[in-house]
Amino acid sequence: MDDNVLVQVQNLKMYFQTEGSYSFTKKYIKAVDDVSFELFKGETFGLVGESGCGKSTLGRTMLGLYKPNAGRVIFEGEDIFALKNKSMKEMRKKMQLIFQDPSASLNPRKTIADILNEPFHIHKVGTKLERKAKINDLLDKVGLSAYHLSRYPHEMSGGQKQRVGIARALALNPKLIICDEPVSALDVSIQAQVINLLEDLQKEYDLTYLFISHNLSVVHHICDRVGVMYLGKLVETGNHEDIYRNTLHPYAKALISAIPHTDPDNSIERILLKGDVPSPANPPTGCRFHTRCLQATDLCAQVEPPLKEVFAGHFAACHQV
Ligand code: ADP
Ligand code: MG
Repeated sequence: MDDNVLVQVQNLKMYFQTEGSYSFTKKYIKAVDDVSFELFKGETFGLVGESGCGKSTLGRTMLGLYKPNAGRVIFEGEDIFALKNKSMKEMRKKMQLIFQDPSASLNPRKTIADILNEPFHIHKVGTKLERKAKINDLLDKVGLSAYHLSRYPHEMSGGQKQRVGIARALALNPKLIICDEPVSALDVSIQAQVINLLEDLQKEYDLTYLFISHNLSVVHHICDRVGVMYLGKLVETGNHEDIYRNTLHPYAKALISAIPHTDPDNSIERILLKGDVPSPANPPTGCRFHTRCLQATDLCAQVEPPLKEVFAGHFAACHQV
C-alpha cells in the first residue's frame, strides 16, 4: 500500500434492514452502496451531498461503528473488521468523531471535566495527575480554560460545546478525525472560528480529516480533495481544483452552481435539479441520478456507470464524460 495512504475504503456497502424478519419480506435501505476511495495522510477530504445520501453512515462505518454488509476499511494497512476486540479498542483511539450537534453529543449530567476524562477512563490511559495535566492542555488548545472544568454543557454556548467535542476527540492523540457536519448547527459568525480551530489543530497534530458537509461552500475553504455523494454512491472525486473548476458529473455541477458567488465576473448559471431525491430503499436502475439528470440517455437508465479516472486523480461516474 502507498505510504501516503492512511485509510483505504474498498467496495463498502452498508444496508439497513427496515421491515420483515423473513427473507422474502426484508427490505433494505442502501445507505452506502459500493463506495471506494482513500484518505491520504494529513489531508482534509470533503464529503458532500444532499441530506440522506449516506455521508454519516459512510463515516460511521469507516470508524467501525457499523458492521458493513460488504467491503473493507483498511487503516494503516490493517483491515479494521478483521481485528479482534482488543486490537479494535486500540484502533478506536486512532479514529475519532466530531458530531454535528454538540448539545446532543455531550452528556448533560456530566461536567466538562468528567466528559473530558472519559476517553482516558475508557481506555485506561494515564494516572490521575497525568490526565489532569492533559485535560488542561486540551482545554487550552481548543480555546477554553480551567474555569470551564466545573461547568455543565447547558452553561456553555454552541461554539464552546463544539470546542469541548473537539477536545474530547483529540484526547487520545488520534490520526483520523471524522468531522460530521461540525459547524452546521452553529451560528454563521461562530462557524469560521471553529473551522479555523480545526485547521490549526490539524497542522499541530498532523491530523487527517474526513470533513462531512451538505454545504459545498463550507468544504470549499478547507478541503484538499472532495468526494461528491449521491444516493449511497460516490459520483465524483478529485482535488479541490478539479472539483470546483473542472466539474465533470452533472450532479456535482448542480451542487456547485448553487454556491452563492460574490464575484460577479465569475458567476455561473444556477442549475436547478428536477424532482426529489429518490428513496435509497428503491434506488433507480442504471445511473441513480438519471431520473433528475438533464443529459440522461437510455443507456443511463439501464447501465450503472462505474467511477472511472477521467483525468489523473479525478474520477467521475457518468456515461457522458
Ligand atoms: P446523510 O448523513 O448524508 O444525511 P445518512 O447516512 O444519515 O445520510 O442516511 C442515509 C440513509 O440511511 C437515509 O435514508 C437514512 O434514513 C438511512 N439511515 C441512516 N441511519 C439509519 C439507521 N440506523 N437505521 C435505518 N436507516 C438509517
Ligand atoms: Mg449526516
